[in-house]
Amino acid sequence: MPDAVAFSVRAAWQQELAQAIRDPLQLGQLLDLPETWVQQHAGARELFPMMVTRHFVNLMTRGDCDDPLLRQVMPSADEYLERDGFVVDPLQEQNNEHPGILHKYKSRVLVILRGGCAINCRYCFRRHFPYAEHHFGSEQRRQLLDLVRQDTAINEVILSGGDPLLATDTQLERLLSELESVPQLRRVRIHSRLPVVLPSRLTQQLAKRLEQSRLQSILVLHANHPNEVATELAQGLELWARHGITLLNQSVLLRGVNDDVEVLSDLSEKLFAAKVLPYYLHQLDAVKGASHFAVTDAVALTIAEGLRTALPGFLVPRLVREIAGEPSKTPLELSRC
Ligand SMILES: *Cc1c(COP(=O)(O)O)cnc(C)c1O
Ligand code: SF4
Repeated sequence: MPDAVAFSVRAAWQQELAQAIRDPLQLGQLLDLPETWVQQHAGARELFPMMVTRHFVNLMTRGDCDDPLLRQVMPSADEYLERDGFVVDPLQEQNNEHPGILHKYKSRVLVILRGGCAINCRYCFRRHFPYAEHHFGSEQRRQLLDLVRQDTAINEVILSGGDPLLATDTQLERLLSELESVPQLRRVRIHSRLPVVLPSRLTQQLAKRLEQSRLQSILVLHANHPNEVATELAQGLELWARHGITLLNQSVLLRGVNDDVEVLSDLSEKLFAAKVLPYYLHQLDAVKGASHFAVTDAVALTIAEGLRTALPGFLVPRLVREIAGEPSKTPLELSRC
């Protein structure tokens, strides 16, 4: 839990977060999963803790070990597989000059505002990230402001994590006020999976504050499967859209979850019905412990072609890969890995 929470009345989303499920055996019971199957996989929590909100669990099908949402959060014995090229720090982020601030692309700077998440995705490229060393405190805030004041090529600040919406509305409002004082900044962007797993996080208070800002604001969600676009989420997104916030989504292409044209088409359609445009479809970062989620480039490109045929152009996400050292994300068509 974020430290400031203890001193104020908890918001609804904070109370829900405190109820998150961290024990695979408990998850198995809630979902009526075969006990032997759960036992076989539960041990992999030692590699990366399990965490999932009750809202997300409620979107899973009882008794289905292959449920696409379950697969994203349930520890798996496959995480012990060693595979060439799957490493601890695939993006070489861990020797950063300013901890918590990633300035890889010219016009935008990304800050790791909060280390934790409300869900631990098994495929996460930051599953081995030393978050404890990356707390975004007053020192980091000063460094960020110094950086954006000095480097006038930066016109956009991206709040990322972990999950930046684990910060309270008050903390976010204070940071926003500071960013508004930097003349060349145009936009603030929030990269968050929290609304998907905890829709009550889409508070009206924060939406109103963003609407009043001189800076344009963008929320980039992270949903991978149409079953994640629940009614409660769609309602929260409608509210934020009414406050003028641009809504985008990024997904990770995951074997056994969404490596399918029909599933991804459904996702795009459901997102658009909730006022969200697809942005990126990421080819998995080769992080140790997640190789069983990998989709080959050949299959990924075939899926992308299928999406172009099935959907209008504005509902087709850009299929990209992140390559350490490149000045932007790389379209898969151009990447050689
Ligand atoms: C992905 C990423 C961004 C954002 O890239 P866009 O193409 O603008 O969405 C910015 N900084 C870092 C370090 C990133 O990994
Ligand atoms: S929400 Fe994002 S950062 Fe957090 S565990 Fe999932 S993939 Fe990783």
